[in-house]
Amino acid sequence: MAETDSAAQAATSHAFEAEVDRLLDLVVHAVYSDRELFLRELVSNAADACEKLRFEARRNDALLKDDPDLRITILPDAGNGTLEISDNGIGMSREDLQQNLGTIARSGTRAFVEALHAGEEAKNLIGRFGIGFYSAFMVADRVEVLSRRAGEEQGHRWSSTGSGAFEIASADDAPSRGTRVILHLKENAREFAEEHRLEHVIRSHSGHVPIPIRLGKDGA
Ligand code: ADP
Ligand code: MG
Repeated sequence: MAETDSAAQAATSHAFEAEVDRLLDLVVHAVYSDRELFLRELVSNAADACEKLRFEARRNDALLKDDPDLRITILPDAGNGTLEISDNGIGMSREDLQQNLGTIARSGTRAFVEALHAGEEAKNLIGRFGIGFYSAFMVADRVEVLSRRAGEEQGHRWSSTGSGAFEIASADDAPSRGTRVILHLKENAREFAEEHRLEHVIRSHSGHVPIPIRLGKDGA
């Protein structure tokens, strides 16, 4: 989608779709044992993004050229209380960020919301359906997404505290291709900045991911 430079520079604030607000409200009160599922969701999104890039690169191999080895990196920072999940996959344009991280148009989340509407209790559903990207707010009180769509020049930052609205601005520190999701962990979720805890969660829930996952700075 064509985007003028001046439009790309403007920082804009957007309201979440009403259903997302409702979902986020539930997410904040997720049961303790479900919280670790956020990582499965973010890793699966990162893997999907890599698969999408691989697919698009079949028609346009220039997309892969500079950085052909697809990978997912999980980078905890206990000192700062942050956790970053990044991929060098397809990335998101400004429009993608606004659409994909502001509505419940996607499959996984939709099944969750439909079951909720059918009267099922939220706490029984998170484990069963997964709630996609928004599950980040089970463990984070602020989420930043830095992304650059493969083949696009301008990168963007999406950010939100998960209540009501999100912001999008152009960002020069976006990855050269793909997405960095940075979680500012809640005080009571700092365990997810510990490597051994993450190792266990990855082994439990992301064992079959077809893209290599690197944990920590080593080998990055
Ligand atoms: P689902 O994965 O079921 O589609 P999610 O809530 O997990 O739903 O993600 C919403 C959408 O956001 C995805 O469909 C995708 O378009 C986009 N998205 C999320 N994470 C990434 C990522 N790391 N790279 C590219 N796109 C992403
Ligand atoms: Mg997903």
